[in-house]
Amino acid sequence: MQIDPKSFDPTSLAAPGVRALHPYIPGKPISELERELGISNVLKLASNENPLGTSPKALAAIQGELAELALYPDGSGHNLKAVLAQRHGVDPSCVTLGNGSNDVLVLLAEAFLTPQDKAVFSQYCFAVYPIATQAVGAEACEVPALADDHGQMPLGHDLNAMAAAIDERTRLVFVANPNNPTGTWLEADALEAFVAAVPPHCLVVVDEAYFEYQDPAHLVDASTWIARYPNLVVSRTFSKAYGLAGLRVGYLLSHPKVADLVNRVRQPFNVNSLALTAAQAALTDDEFIQQARDMNSAGLARLQRALPELGLRTYPSAGNFVLVDMGGPAKPWIDGLLQAGIITRGVANYGLPNHIRITIGTPQQMDRLLQELQRLRGQISQGEA
Ligand SMILES: *Cc1c(COP(=O)(O)O)cnc(C)c1O
Repeated sequence: MQIDPKSFDPTSLAAPGVRALHPYIPGKPISELERELGISNVLKLASNENPLGTSPKALAAIQGELAELALYPDGSGHNLKAVLAQRHGVDPSCVTLGNGSNDVLVLLAEAFLTPQDKAVFSQYCFAVYPIATQAVGAEACEVPALADDHGQMPLGHDLNAMAAAIDERTRLVFVANPNNPTGTWLEADALEAFVAAVPPHCLVVVDEAYFEYQDPAHLVDASTWIARYPNLVVSRTFSKAYGLAGLRVGYLLSHPKVADLVNRVRQPFNVNSLALTAAQAALTDDEFIQQARDMNSAGLARLQRALPELGLRTYPSAGNFVLVDMGGPAKPWIDGLLQAGIITRGVANYGLPNHIRITIGTPQQMDRLLQELQRLRGQISQGEA
């Protein structure tokens, strides 16, 4: 059959959920802005990557793995699972490895959602939850977040409203602790009471991508509750504090029967051999994690002091980033920073056109950021930008 490429439109052929989908918008790559501006010292504060780089132990470990790249990785992830199981005090059958935690979130949607089912999540939640839900054609139930003038946790998850939104058809409820892009978090008591209230026909997914950045004195660790709540699943990642975003590795902790179901839709070699080796080594690098955490808390505190002095409102954050209300359209700020070689993240796609999300960097990187913001403050308040 002769098909005219100009008039060919496969849109109507796509699954209905996919037709309505908007793809995830990643942070602009450094190389792209450097090409555009013809400069070489671009600073990326847009994807919550670790400014200290990668755990040196992980880097050393993958050197030895390079000679083995002709071989398929261990599809069962035996060694990494064993180390993770030991660390979390669970059986290895409770661990599912993923190509980043994004992968395990998608696998959950594939394993547990059909077009007849619903997934519940909060307004302003991590964009992957609605994308994974819609991709399988399930109904997305977005629950309004806490108000912007909420005293403790503006724009945070409203757990009472989320619990109320769970009905007979709900199979997954996603909770990000802390949430990206808001930075907001949940207290242990409130989160556990929520988990305890979720009925057995619904899995509760607690996404702990920023777990390592928490103050160790006030840890909220939902992974320790899994034995008590068999419908609880917890996701973690090596992309953030461990500095392995480029290798793609994350995991899910769950009841073994949940892990077994998720494993049925998993690609056999979804985690590559360098990622398996690097993750295992990174887990032994407590010193690197502590350095990252210390630098992050100092940098976050600094931005939360300095930005309000520029008339910019910051939100509470338990991650390695901060959401900032620019008090007007964020675009001139984002563009002005780009011109100065600094990539931040606009969050208009989250329904927050006046806000930007900034990743915490090194003290020198924060000097540069604050200097540029101060310069732009002068321009933008005079209406020049
Ligand atoms: C960054 C992030 C992830 C992790 O993504 P990876 O796929 O593991 O790189 C998961 N959840 C949230 C809330 C995040 O911000």
